Amino acid sequence: MSRRPFNFSAGPAALPEEVLSQVAGEMLDWQGSGMSVMEMSHRGAEFTSIATAAEADLRELLQVPANFRILFMQGGGLAENAIVPMNISRASKVDVVVSGAWSAKSAEEAQRYADVSVAASGAAAKFTTLPAPATWQLRGDAAYVHICSNETIDGVEYHELPDLMALGSSAPLVIDCSSQQLSRSMDWSRIGLAFGGAQKNIGPAGLTLVFVREDLLGHALRICPSAFDFKVVAEAKSMYNTPPTFSIYVAGLVFKWLKAFSYAGKTGVAAIEQRNIDKAQLFYAALDGSNLFENRVAADCRSRMNIPFYLRGKFNTETLTQAFLTGAKERHLLQLKGHKSVGGMRASIYNAMPLEGVQALVAYLKDFEAQYG
Ligand SMILES: *Cc1c(COP(=O)(O)O)cnc(C)c1O
Repeated sequence: MSRRPFNFSAGPAALPEEVLSQVAGEMLDWQGSGMSVMEMSHRGAEFTSIATAAEADLRELLQVPANFRILFMQGGGLAENAIVPMNISRASKVDVVVSGAWSAKSAEEAQRYADVSVAASGAAAKFTTLPAPATWQLRGDAAYVHICSNETIDGVEYHELPDLMALGSSAPLVIDCSSQQLSRSMDWSRIGLAFGGAQKNIGPAGLTLVFVREDLLGHALRICPSAFDFKVVAEAKSMYNTPPTFSIYVAGLVFKWLKAFSYAGKTGVAAIEQRNIDKAQLFYAALDGSNLFENRVAADCRSRMNIPFYLRGKFNTETLTQAFLTGAKERHLLQLKGHKSVGGMRASIYNAMPLEGVQALVAYLKDFEAQYG
């Protein structure tokens, strides 16, 4: 079979080809059970073994401490914007750092449940830089502080999580890591709760991961649906209601793929993080060295996962942008269109994107520039 196209989708996004092949092979009969994973009881021995292994592998990959629970939920990142305040705001104060489109949405949704204050905003800089933590206006009695650790649309990423203690706050840090999770190691000492939809970097849509410190369980508001009460879900080991079984199965295969992944003398998350660094450097260097293309984000907070880019100055027209996208598709470089709210182009280069995919994109940028620049 000839090589599959390189897929730069922001989400749902590319999955490792080995995983897709294994899923195809097991579609009609999972390991001699006579059933597809889609057809199994979520409480049966077969699926229980799948879910248990998935959680254990994820815990090992990210070195999740014992006092954190991992929940397999549904609803995606946007539902968590409501579920999190329903669970841990105690209808009190929530501070949000607005660093782009996704954290702006989180701030807006949380207002239905809590007294929300924007502690800092990158809006004036058009979200090309992260507000420095030292400038954040944190309220001492906030129930939690929310950030988006990687802004999928704006392409800004925290390369170090803020140390709230050092900023004089004892509030737990909540991170929306939908488009960052599993791309790098996580500093759990600075995190109270992390959530993200699987479809960016882990598996099929329909699965949402929540990592929650145990002391934050048990404070849900009365209006919180039982199926979204973290304590209820944790006590039922994510089986209070039927979980997204097929998505959990595929995510579990991705975790196994990642455990076996090696690169630059490293394995697992350390290896994928190094490859992600190398891919991002290669692409940003190509943009910075180009007279035709540009990325507008400050160097210290450029995302490794989602790289929005534009044609420069007078070249930045709808026609030339469209010509770029059409030519990309002809070269089997798919889904490079920028988010509709910001336009331009965007390359999402999650874990499943090999280095060769970025090299092919860089080669295309050069050819396009030679033709139109
Ligand atoms: C995609 C995304 C969301 C929304 O996720 P859904 O699963 O569509 O609800 C939220 N936050 C971030 C950072 C995202 O990238």
